[in-house]
Amino acid sequence: MNRLIIKGNIISADSFNNISIYENGYIVAEDGVIREVTGKLDRKYGSDTVTDYKDALIMQSFTDMHLHAPQYPMLGMGLDMSLLEWLNTYTFPTEAYFRDEGFARSAYSMLAKELIRNGTTRVVMFSSIHRKATLILMEELDKAGITGYVGKVNMDRNGGRDLEEETGESIRETLKWLDECKWENIKPIITPRFTPSCTNELMQALGKIAEERNLPIQSHLSENVSEQEWVSSLHPDCSHYYMTYEKYGLWNGRTVMAHCVWSDEEERKAMKESGVWAVHCPSSNINLTSGYAPVKEMIREGMNIALGSDIAGGDSLSMFSNTVSAIKSSKARHMMLEGKPDFLTVEEAFYLASSAPAAFFGEKPGFAAGNPLNAIVLTDSSLPSVRRLSVKERFERSIYRREPHAVKAVYSNGKKVL
Ligand SMILES: [Zn+2]
Repeated sequence: MNRLIIKGNIISADSFNNISIYENGYIVAEDGVIREVTGKLDRKYGSDTVTDYKDALIMQSFTDMHLHAPQYPMLGMGLDMSLLEWLNTYTFPTEAYFRDEGFARSAYSMLAKELIRNGTTRVVMFSSIHRKATLILMEELDKAGITGYVGKVNMDRNGGRDLEEETGESIRETLKWLDECKWENIKPIITPRFTPSCTNELMQALGKIAEERNLPIQSHLSENVSEQEWVSSLHPDCSHYYMTYEKYGLWNGRTVMAHCVWSDEEERKAMKESGVWAVHCPSSNINLTSGYAPVKEMIREGMNIALGSDIAGGDSLSMFSNTVSAIKSSKARHMMLEGKPDFLTVEEAFYLASSAPAAFFGEKPGFAAGNPLNAIVLTDSSLPSVRRLSVKERFERSIYRREPHAVKAVYSNGKKVL
């Protein structure tokens, strides 16, 4: 058995609106799994080595529940457009480059390293339509120590000349890709891009594959009003966007839907009843002027909800920044609706970026015993302050601002990866 003990000021998002703090506390992990978090180390660990991070903060690392790896090269560009224009002008042409395996290798290796440097250790991620580039992406993430799910994108209509598959080819390539996935910690997820990109025949086949192979599913839902109108013209039999996934077996407790900005009460009820996950991507929703998602309403209604960077609709890979965006987006909505509903606090938004998605992976919130150790060690000693700050104040400041190279160490799935 391999025991790891780390010491510092431990911050654990144990519930939605409350963090637990252990000043000068210890996390004890055995074979990569947390055994306990404690303020005082038991004598039985006396002979074990303790990695002492002294006054640093030790927080849970982040899970990014929605992002597009092949949009990494266009991060921070084209953001004065709205969704459908942005897809056709920037996104589809950029993703088409990933037919080149050498290009994919260098871009994905950089992406994986940047995720770790930003404290993101787990992802639910879109690749492109390219099978080989998707395998390269999975390999690079695995090499960097990242865990989670990656999906080869399926799209057999409305992608333009360079980013579209024949229906049969899309299905065959997906099956081949699934057979080639060989990683223990990076697993495949079925990924119809969104309803306008997939014919009914393809949707049907993907639903069947997901069911037969017991695979999770990811896609987009009700991101923007023009998109909703387009979907409704493609599926006049469906009164709601979600039904276009539901009717093909793509709607269940292992489905992850990005955005849901314009999901009305009925669509949200369907999500809650089926246990579908909504991924709130506030930076992207503001950049592409999609709207402010009703996050607090969704939480009150008991939906499964987590945060995503949605790069490159989002402009930052950093889940610190996206956590701040979630707070600001909820405050904008709060002001717009004259104080109703209330807004996300720092603790709540951090919970959505760390503990909430843990449930999707079958884990408990916070640094709970039994969870794999996923943690960030942060220093803030060079930031100015006029008095001694509490750990809680330092936690809040660290979400909003950090000194250069503040992330000193990162643990993913029990291993030190930075
Ligand atoms: Zn997206």
